[in-house]
Amino acid sequence: MANVLSDLNPPRRILMGPGPSNVNPRVLKAMATPLIGHLDPEFLKIMNETQDLLRQVFKTKNRFTIPVSGTGSSGMETCLCNLIEEGDEVVVCVNGVFGMRMADIVERNRASLIKVEGEWGRAIPAEKVEEALKGRKVKLVAIVHAETSTGVLQPMEQISRIVHDHGALLLVDSVTSLGGCPVEVDEWDIDACYSGTQKCLSAPPGLSPVTFSDRAMKVLEKRKTKVPSWYLDMSMVGKYWGKERVYHHTAPISMIYALREALRVILEEGLEARFARHQLNHRALVAGVGALGLGLLPPEGERLCMLNAVKIAGGADDAAVRSRLLSEFSMEIGGGLGEFKGKVWRVGLMGESSTRANVLLFLAALEQILSEQGIKVKKGSAIEAASAAYSV
Ligand SMILES: *Cc1c(COP(=O)(O)O)cnc(C)c1O
Repeated sequence: MANVLSDLNPPRRILMGPGPSNVNPRVLKAMATPLIGHLDPEFLKIMNETQDLLRQVFKTKNRFTIPVSGTGSSGMETCLCNLIEEGDEVVVCVNGVFGMRMADIVERNRASLIKVEGEWGRAIPAEKVEEALKGRKVKLVAIVHAETSTGVLQPMEQISRIVHDHGALLLVDSVTSLGGCPVEVDEWDIDACYSGTQKCLSAPPGLSPVTFSDRAMKVLEKRKTKVPSWYLDMSMVGKYWGKERVYHHTAPISMIYALREALRVILEEGLEARFARHQLNHRALVAGVGALGLGLLPPEGERLCMLNAVKIAGGADDAAVRSRLLSEFSMEIGGGLGEFKGKVWRVGLMGESSTRANVLLFLAALEQILSEQGIKVKKGSAIEAASAAYSV
């Protein structure tokens, strides 16, 4: 017999890194549902339902709200390549890896890039955005709402006012924030927003929900040149998701089943309850690592609740801690990126992974590993501090 290997049997992991997060069994079950055609009237109904659920989670009435085929980065590329043209002035706020990625894509689209650089580990001050807009005819300002590389939350409302006062479009990366903390597309007057399925939406990676305001749709309609990417051209993809139902590319059917189910799970819990759960588990984790003498990279008030950038201290061995968490506790956390490599752990509490059980197991495991590395920790202190946070 040919060598067909053994059955696929990956270990069960607790996914507490920067994504993917753990997936609800209901979502996995939905993915195992029989396929139907991508133009089957029953599938068109499922598409409409998924769009409706997406609008509820994005808090928007935008007609153009669809899941782009591809991971979060495909949504980033979609928004940029559809809304900018060669020579356009585009401001990108950069205070981490994902801002850098947007800047790279802007340059690849031959637009004129204006970078607003902020300190990594801090939010971008609105005044810096205003300064960049002064005296220029900027078409679009791009900013990351939840910077997963540093654990920073970016306040959006003041920046949105500034951007629109200058007649520009606002593009927001909500890959990590959507489904974990408030993302108010209409209320904050966001023109284009993209997310990803494997962070706080807790579905497998593979789709990037994207929404465009009417203002953004007008910009797309009035382009002088074709969108340079055929696959991500929303004027064509929109005709499949809209009334026309024109074939463009085959929809990833099973992933759309998965997204539909993940969105149902989210809305059944309720957005407010879900955000409160993320906040509570975040507070407990911060209290627990604090008791072990570890602080977070961003200052209080600028922290994400779904991604905790914990500063490594006391001579802990970064790689050894992460590899022991994985091998002995089957728990994945992330290492630092870029200038924070070896300096922070990125502990995700996203969607299904944001649970009290996960927080307490992580703290107990970390305490044990640190203590075995010869670092002085008070036994039981992390659990005690976290438990106190849970009992208020
Ligand atoms: C994960 C992430 C992305 C990229 O998503 P992929 O699914 O890895 O392509 C983009 N932006 C932010 C803020 C992210 O956290």
